[in-house]
Amino acid sequence: MESISVFDMLKIGVGPSSSHTLGPWRAALWWLEEIEDKGGASSLEKVEVHLYGSLSLTGVGHATDIAVVLGLCGFDPITYPTEQIDNHIATIKHEKTILINSLKSIPFDFEKDIHFHQNFLDFHPNGMTIKGTFTDGSFYEENYYSIGGGFVVKEQKSEIVEETTDTSSFPFPIEKGKELLAYCKKENKSISQIVLENELSLRSEDEIDTELKAIWNVMLDSIYDGCHTEGMLPGGLQVKRRAYRLHESLIGDSNYSNTEEWMEAIRNTKVSFRQILKWVSCYAIAVNEVNADLGRVVTAPTNGSAGVIPAVLFYYLTIENHNAGFEEIKRFLLVAGEIGALFKKGATISAAMGGCQAEIGVSSAMAAGALAELMGATPEQVLIASEISMEHHLGLTCDPIAGLVQVPCIERNTMGAIKAINAAEIALHTDPAHVKVPFDSVVNTMWETAKDMNTKYKETSEGGLAVSVNLSDC
Ligand code: SF4
Repeated sequence: MESISVFDMLKIGVGPSSSHTLGPWRAALWWLEEIEDKGGASSLEKVEVHLYGSLSLTGVGHATDIAVVLGLCGFDPITYPTEQIDNHIATIKHEKTILINSLKSIPFDFEKDIHFHQNFLDFHPNGMTIKGTFTDGSFYEENYYSIGGGFVVKEQKSEIVEETTDTSSFPFPIEKGKELLAYCKKENKSISQIVLENELSLRSEDEIDTELKAIWNVMLDSIYDGCHTEGMLPGGLQVKRRAYRLHESLIGDSNYSNTEEWMEAIRNTKVSFRQILKWVSCYAIAVNEVNADLGRVVTAPTNGSAGVIPAVLFYYLTIENHNAGFEEIKRFLLVAGEIGALFKKGATISAAMGGCQAEIGVSSAMAAGALAELMGATPEQVLIASEISMEHHLGLTCDPIAGLVQVPCIERNTMGAIKAINAAEIALHTDPAHVKVPFDSVVNTMWETAKDMNTKYKETSEGGLAVSVNLSDC
């Protein structure tokens, strides 16, 4: 039975894409680990990268090439100062050398050593190969597959090797929603309590709190930074940042000098349906503008959908419950992570496998369930909220214009967040005995829909808006 830690689902990373940026970055780090017993970076003479399928077709727009190179430099995506990316990459391009794993400088030409292949590798649409040649003439090459949400796997013979936490110690191994509900019933516990007990088998409560606080702080900073940054997004689409003006119109002339005071200022603003819609949208847009600008966000479950969960949680903290604090944040993230894990196990969180239903749909389902628990829903109602949210994202395609995670992605996060809030409210008024679509059925339906979806709509930018919008008009 496959179990997944919450901390595998919610990862701190760098935008704009978990599958096309964070995953390839982590694959490069994995490759560096693997060459250690072959002499390591100091024995390398040459390195080349091959990108296939979706990683190639939308790789430039998603900064896949940049991410792999930063990974080969040995940088940690959690701590690397993102404001240095432009300078760092410009230097590598100019000097045509790369300092592998911060140890050895070798020749490296962006144009010649990164290869974009049009074909797909059989195992997964997001395939890549890293090949290194050593000073003794030997070489090591490995294929990696970025399967969504920053997860990376290798295919070795018939075995799939995945870089995730060992969860064999979980007291409540969960693969399906019905198992989760059975544990809740048997133990008379909420979903967040069951998930917490699983995580406690891996780390202490202090460590869990520290990691969840770090995740929330990145989410909060990404909302704050996005709301306070003007200008254009990179990539050539000429997309203007919108969170700044929207926020300015909502916050008025309030004074604040840090995030705590800012939250208080938001709590003191006018509350009407229109204002709430605009605040939630503003939060989601802010995060995804930071993401599109190669900033630091939390994959939740992916980078393209990184705005939904922070927007819904921040809505709860600033609008719904002014007295909420870390305990509510913790419960929210534990539930959201578990619901994301259920979709990853039963379907996919990769747009290259399932289109945008796998990204925005899953993030919305995660947020809906988590919000429902905070609003007092029973475990059954929590999964009803998630089911409702996914039910109304089924079939959503992935068609980013110019391969950039900007249009339709940024706005789409606002839709996912609003649907999540709506789904939670409906679920709170739903009797589980009358539910027609069980949670596990919608997970399976999402997966079946994913399999039926044309490749054009799976993060290839070969269909939908990506081809029907005239770039010269942008
Ligand atoms: S359209 Fe959806 S799935 Fe595709 S890149 Fe944008 S947010 Fe991600």
